Amino acid sequence: MVRTWFRRWRTERTLQRRAIPDPLWQLTLARFPFLALPNTDEAARLRELSTLFLASKEFTGVGGLEVDDTMAVAIAAQACLPILHLGLECYDSFIGIVVHEDVVVARREVVDDDGVVHEYDEELSGEAMHGGPVMLSWRDVADAGESAEAGYNVVIHEFVHVLDMRNGDADGIPVLADREALEEWVRVLSAEYDTFCDRIDAGDDETLLDPYAAEAPEEFFAVAAEAFFVAPHEFKHEHAALYALLAGYFKQDPAARRPS
Ligand SMILES: [Zn+2]
Repeated sequence: MVRTWFRRWRTERTLQRRAIPDPLWQLTLARFPFLALPNTDEAARLRELSTLFLASKEFTGVGGLEVDDTMAVAIAAQACLPILHLGLECYDSFIGIVVHEDVVVARREVVDDDGVVHEYDEELSGEAMHGGPVMLSWRDVADAGESAEAGYNVVIHEFVHVLDMRNGDADGIPVLADREALEEWVRVLSAEYDTFCDRIDAGDDETLLDPYAAEAPEEFFAVAAEAFFVAPHEFKHEHAALYALLAGYFKQDPAARRPS
């Protein structure tokens, strides 16, 4: 009881004392138009969640990069869009956000069927780890206003992995209300995933979703969520059943709030 009261008091205090200044918030909405929500309750909620997010997370720039307020607010607001109606506690599992100037090249290894080890470089624009920090490439974050047209958004992608990992490893299945919701999720997501993989295998290069989504169900979920939020009309047109599934999970209907 006391703890609930204390948490509420602390929340109110943070919202009053650390509110994001109006000019900075307006600048953020102008740079990333998909964050400008026409419903005033939702718009106010996104701003409050962003304020609380900034107060509870720690940003670290790598290689001399200084994460200023503009950058932190840009990341916070995009990270809070998916949890607008799910709650900030969905992100309780981690504190750190590590920001690189640009993509990070990671050395990877795969072992083939003959036991031969192959090494290759992978370019990462972001990475989410279980209980660990979320890594982001600032260049990709900063480009999110322009890349929205292609359905691309690195912040939403990585934070959807965080949501996915709330119930164990990232597997494309987040925390759902009940068994019925789980069955529905698996049915729709796997059918859409299989169809998408078939299109990629057939050489279809006209897909809205990045071919990277064919990598694994958890990547398909994260890539689909990007398009759901930043290119909702195109996404709904190409993936109607998946759009409805994500709208139910996120409790949001991005296509309805924006003219096509
Ligand atoms: Zn991913």
